[in-house]
Amino acid sequence: MTDPRPVHTHIWNGAPLPAWLDGHHHDDHGRPVIHTPDGEARPEDGWWLIGWSNGAATAASPWTGRHVYGPDGIAARLERAEAAIARVTELHPAADDWSWATFGCDHGGAHRQLCARCRTCHPCPTIRALHEEPTP
Ligand SMILES: [Zn+2]
Ligand SMILES: [Zn+2]
Repeated sequence: MTDPRPVHTHIWNGAPLPAWLDGHHHDDHGRPVIHTPDGEARPEDGWWLIGWSNGAATAASPWTGRHVYGPDGIAARLERAEAAIARVTELHPAADDWSWATFGCDHGGAHRQLCARCRTCHPCPTIRALHEEPTP
């Protein structure tokens, strides 16, 4: 995945800004001005400052911060869902069992291997359900 991910959060409350924001802000009469990819952001008290894996910094209102970047927000839920998909995928590898070639595949030879767990053509129905659009 090369899309940037949120890697730091800081709730602005007047305290000094964290080091990961160095070079991404300037001061305007004691209030931070954050340099974001969309231009300057002037966070109010309680706003969220977000550091991204590509080095960008952004700001979000308290409601958006909580529901997108908080512990049960969209970003954390996406990370857990992607980790779960990766764990299930690891449970269904190709068997690396070339005796399968002896039995072959019932799909015109479309599959060269069987799933080590399901013992059906790989990718098995579980892997297809995770990674492909369902076919009607
Ligand atoms: Zn097959
Ligand atoms: Zn399987």
